[in-house]
Amino acid sequence: MGTDTAAAVLTVDLGAIVANWRFLQAQHPSGETGAVVKADGYGLGARPVAAALAASGCRTFFVATADEALSLRDTIPEAALVVLGGLFVGAEQEFAARGIIPALGSLAEIDAWTSLGRCLGRVLPALLHVDTGMSRLGLDAREASILAEDHARLDGLDLRYVMSHLVSAEVPDDPLNAIQRDRFLAMRERLAPGPASLANSAGMFLGEGFGFDLARPGSALYGINPTPGRTNPMRQVVTLMARVLAVREIPAGATAGYNATWTAARVSRIATLGVGYADGWHRSHSNAGAAYFDGHPVPLVGRVSMDLTTFDVTDRPDIHPGSWLELLGPHRAADDAAVDAGTIGYEVLTSLGHRYRRVYRPE
Ligand SMILES: *Cc1c(COP(=O)(O)O)cnc(C)c1O
Repeated sequence: MGTDTAAAVLTVDLGAIVANWRFLQAQHPSGETGAVVKADGYGLGARPVAAALAASGCRTFFVATADEALSLRDTIPEAALVVLGGLFVGAEQEFAARGIIPALGSLAEIDAWTSLGRCLGRVLPALLHVDTGMSRLGLDAREASILAEDHARLDGLDLRYVMSHLVSAEVPDDPLNAIQRDRFLAMRERLAPGPASLANSAGMFLGEGFGFDLARPGSALYGINPTPGRTNPMRQVVTLMARVLAVREIPAGATAGYNATWTAARVSRIATLGVGYADGWHRSHSNAGAAYFDGHPVPLVGRVSMDLTTFDVTDRPDIHPGSWLELLGPHRAADDAAVDAGTIGYEVLTSLGHRYRRVYRPE
């Protein structure tokens, strides 16, 4: 591998991310397809991911926070860069100076942004975020009514899109999807009957009427299945290989790991990897799931500790110190690891640690 000192190597296939973006774009011919690169590109590296997508024609990027936008601004100088978390109070000047677009989520944010625009004599770009059921960000019904009575409050803004966010897009028959879309249509009609943005990755697969003018896929770009329960249409992006540090034979009745949560039922070979919860390989993987060797699973046994994880390789005498096991890759997607750890693929990816050697496979 050319990585003699690495305990684990995380390979990110930028070509696959670009292919996933193009595939999503093809699902949405009537509008623009952006890319969500918050949380450091879902743990995979916002800068290389955004650079690859921008070079492939993606023009609109979404992050969660102002600091994320600032750290990406120079990587994608031409792109529209939207902060989903809204206009941070006190940071208005910084947003305007760096050309960062807030998703305005309250009357106070609208007023702060328009008054700065007046002050600077500039028409400042914005998205208008309305809450259709998430109860986190966006104008609520009361604020929306006030704004509907007082449209002038939006004067002087370059309002690019009205947006909202789906609660259950990955559950296609959840009635909330249609309810939210109808609320969204009604709010858009009253507030700003222009271009609109509603769908996340899964929302792009809900059929007609959810795509609108700008789609905001994140997870699907990174290989997470936007259609849970059906075949994943996305390409896999991530491979995580870890080196076997040690292999030992233990007698029947011996235990592995903290608190002796696993007991060998037979004479067993235990392989130890230098990956643990400090690398985002959560403790909830303890005694759950497997790594792959040569395409065959070897079960994870015992507690995941900070820097180490143990596997029962009794049936694989060909695993030795220096062998490499696949934690994520062609045999085991982030979605699979998530099932074992009682979480979702999003959390598996965004937890991937910074101790891994990171390799970016170019397009
Ligand atoms: C994270 C996020 C997205 C992307 O969601 P995915 O399910 O990862 O595609 C889109 N819109 C908003 C508002 C988000 O917070």
